[in-house]
Amino acid sequence: MNIVVTNDDGLHTSGIWALARALCAVGHVTVVAPDREQSGVGMGISFTRPVKVEEMVSRIEGVKALAVEGTPADAVILAVQGFSPGPVDLVVSGINEGANLGQNVLVSGTVGACFQAHFWNIPAIAVSVATLKGAQFDPAAQTAAHLATLFRDGVLTGPLLLNVNLPNVPLAEIKGVSITRLAKGKYFDTLEKVPSHKHDYYWLARGKSEWAMDEGTDAWAMKQKHISITPLHMDLTAETNAPHLDEVLTRLRAGLRG
Ligand code: MN
Repeated sequence: MNIVVTNDDGLHTSGIWALARALCAVGHVTVVAPDREQSGVGMGISFTRPVKVEEMVSRIEGVKALAVEGTPADAVILAVQGFSPGPVDLVVSGINEGANLGQNVLVSGTVGACFQAHFWNIPAIAVSVATLKGAQFDPAAQTAAHLATLFRDGVLTGPLLLNVNLPNVPLAEIKGVSITRLAKGKYFDTLEKVPSHKHDYYWLARGKSEWAMDEGTDAWAMKQKHISITPLHMDLTAETNAPHLDEVLTRLRAGLRG
């Protein structure tokens, strides 16, 4: 089984190597990841410039490591189009420092890499730990390896995209595993002006998040100290039969007739 490991925190972070090390027990691992932090770039692809790819000194013997001057999705495209030694059977992205809950799956580079795999019907697992500092990677790495084994052994089949979040506690303190849906909520993003003599610059900081703690959601699972597994798919279409849309059609048709 050919496994591509990527992330959005960059090839230099510990999370990706903890993940790659655990996955070596499951299949043939190739690490292809951004050469710097790319958190928040979502599914973005570098269409407007060439992307540098450089082989790096690997932290794991026998595992090839490629640094990509681009996005996590770029890394997946490069891996699938030639930098993996064979057809890619599974993409695993992480281990991200910081949970990827609710609407954040559309912003996350960790999950974005998995969506790129998903667009090509390649199974993918995004793995995140719910802390921004001092993440405990071991439970997340073990969880990813277990899930990868289920793909390898045919227990999990088809192009699934699993978004996995873990509370930042040791394995012994994890209270359960839940299949979840995305929580409803939002982030309070803030602007911070950067003093400069000529132009105005701003840091767009991801502020505090606030989630509705409905039972069965990913945010709820974090609070319960559960491992959260949210199956995702790419169809973002909302209800098309809603009455207000009929009104839109009536008015637009009338309007366009003049
Ligand atoms: Mn990140």
